[in-house]
Amino acid sequence: MAIERTLSIIKPDATKKNLLGKIIARFEEEGLTIAGVRKVWLSQQEAEGFYAVHKARPFFGELVEFMTSGPCVVMCLEGEDAIARNREIMGATNPADAAEGTLRKLYADSIGENAVHGSDSAENAAIEVAYFFRSTELF
Ligand code: ADP
Ligand code: MG
Repeated sequence: MAIERTLSIIKPDATKKNLLGKIIARFEEEGLTIAGVRKVWLSQQEAEGFYAVHKARPFFGELVEFMTSGPCVVMCLEGEDAIARNREIMGATNPADAAEGTLRKLYADSIGENAVHGSDSAENAAIEVAYFFRSTELF
């Protein structure tokens, strides 16, 4: 294990439901620190670019529409094993399959509107953090 950085997004559904504080507190309680944080309203182009790996998936249009439907909070989380830890705290993509106590079990409504994003690998974490933050914005 090592100290890692990963990208977290609090998606528009959770932002609309006033859950920013609860979700951020959970990451801090779990020992992750917020290396960078910003509220953003993604343009269509930014959302399409961020989710480019899913371009061929049938849900791509729906995903981009959802991610541009309101503001998000983008965060760079830092800590021991942060990439896998964030994924554990988030829970499975579909809240119906997510473990008890995970953010998606607690707060998500559907497989599409599922409250949070987290990078899935070291390679993607580096790409995704750089998509939203300059290295000089992370502390
Ligand atoms: P995760 O966010 O858990 O890494 P994926 O990378 O597979 O999941 O998918 C990216 C996002 O696309 C999901 O978080 C969700 O918002 C959306 N999504 C995934 N699968 C579906 C689906 N079957 N229908 C609608 N939206 C979906
Ligand atoms: Mg993913």
